[in-house]
Amino acid sequence: PAAVRGLSKSFGDRTVLDELDLEIEPGQFVALLGPSGCGKSTLLRILADLDQEVSGDVQVAQRRAVAFQRPRLMPWKRVWRNVVLGLPGRPDKERAVAALEEVGLGHRVDVWPKVLSGGEAQRVSLARALVREPDLLLLDEPFSALDALTRIKAQRLVGELWRRHGCAVLLVTHDVEEALLLADRVLVMRDGRIGYDQVLDLDRPRDVTDPAFVALRAEL
Ligand code: ATP
Ligand code: MG
Repeated sequence: PAAVRGLSKSFGDRTVLDELDLEIEPGQFVALLGPSGCGKSTLLRILADLDQEVSGDVQVAQRRAVAFQRPRLMPWKRVWRNVVLGLPGRPDKERAVAALEEVGLGHRVDVWPKVLSGGEAQRVSLARALVREPDLLLLDEPFSALDALTRIKAQRLVGELWRRHGCAVLLVTHDVEEALLLADRVLVMRDGRIGYDQVLDLDRPRDVTDPAFVALRAEL
């Protein structure tokens, strides 16, 4: 779903991505970590085709969907219409309802976005991504604005959706534990490239005894 070769991106004289290479396999759940300002969101925006002023070779699946930290919902459209917004053809309410049910929002179909809590709005943006049946789902710190309990629920939900839909996921996060909980591959960005790239065994223990936890902490 994504193959990037020699990708470079500068803002003025500041080089953010420097000859970056990255390949994401179908169905992989990839977590991308790295210090603030290292270029994670820049890379995600490029993969989402929101930024085309780059050099290098970028190949990304046509069917991709994005969910950002603060979901942008149209306030004058009811929740279900937000979910199917931008899809070709007539707005398909049934399809929107199915996606909303999948993220546990079957009771929020007809409300206005302004009445949603932060966690609910986040799930609407997941539903909006899911109706697009993406081959690649791009998530930029989707949980960071949520309270601890809502965050855990949302993390579990994303894990379930990934297992059910089988799409590849690229998750940008600052949270090492979240990365190791959800991903089967972790990347750390360094000097504008992927400096650390580790495929993880999905059956390993997912706690602090996990050797991957120690290794990844040392990388950050
Ligand atoms: P964070 O973890 O804080 O979200 P990040 O790794 O996502 O950080 P980016 O948002 O990709 O970092 O930004 C990388 C660098 O590029 C930063 O130095 C940022 O200031 C710069 N940058 C990003 N977007 C722009 C822009 N539109 N114009 C100028 N500079 C930008
Ligand atoms: Mg960012």
